[in-house]
Amino acid sequence: MMAARADRSPTTERHERPVIEIDEVVRTYVIGQTTVRALRGVSLRIERGEYVAIMGPSGSGKSTLMNTLGCLDAPTSGRYRLDGVDVAMLDEDDLSDLRNRKIGFVFQGFNLVPRISALANVELPMVYAGLTRSARRHRATRALEAVGMGRRLDHGSNELSGGQQQRVAIARAIVTNPALILADEPTGNLDSRSTEDVLAIFEDLNGSGRTVVMITHEDDVAAHADRLVRLADGRVVADGTVIAESDSAIGRARLARSV
Ligand code: ADP
Ligand code: MG
Repeated sequence: MMAARADRSPTTERHERPVIEIDEVVRTYVIGQTTVRALRGVSLRIERGEYVAIMGPSGSGKSTLMNTLGCLDAPTSGRYRLDGVDVAMLDEDDLSDLRNRKIGFVFQGFNLVPRISALANVELPMVYAGLTRSARRHRATRALEAVGMGRRLDHGSNELSGGQQQRVAIARAIVTNPALILADEPTGNLDSRSTEDVLAIFEDLNGSGRTVVMITHEDDVAAHADRLVRLADGRVVADGTVIAESDSAIGRARLARSV
């Protein structure tokens, strides 16, 4: 670890732009007379190629944070820079363009379009990309092959198991080759076998240089990440390196250092 640190020149570090930089992000929801403070001043930077797990009790602001990172929701105050771009400066068109090019989303409930084929679902993000039909088909097929679904291209999502649906959803998320994968409890509806399949795919994606940010409430899922950020009550309460105990069958995620 010391050697790895010495190899990194401080100059290089200073010039590397984090993928995600959020500063003092606050998100409040006003419902009638009630104000819910979902995020109460969250600051976070995530470097290119990191694999980060976000944990925290229900209602702690995980999904709100994820929606903010994915430009699906705007902060009430504070700043978010994605790849160095302050997203508050972008209009709705630029934002959706940014989402399409840079971010792949994976949700707990898969969010596939029912009754159309796996292939058609994965082609959807490319419909506005100005590609020919055959180019779309080719890319979608490659993405489905990459998640082990190459033999089920024509299956409707209602004909697939939960684990298979999530793999199709991941193929849809990666078909545009985004640098950032955001996943909100991607294994929350899956059995342990399918959970392992999905985690192996995320590990591959991260291994090929993509940044992965994954919400989970399971310690053994978080143990696959390199870094663990804990939220409580709309704030970051811990942020550290994940140490997976290799001698433990469970491989629980632990914090090496806390803030
Ligand atoms: P988590 O994903 O950690 O369970 P959320 O980010 O979904 O937490 O929610 C954080 C808080 O914000 C909760 O109190 C929740 O009820 C509230 N909240 C989330 N989304 C909305 C919304 N669209 N309108 C009002 N309150 C919301
Ligand atoms: Mg949530």
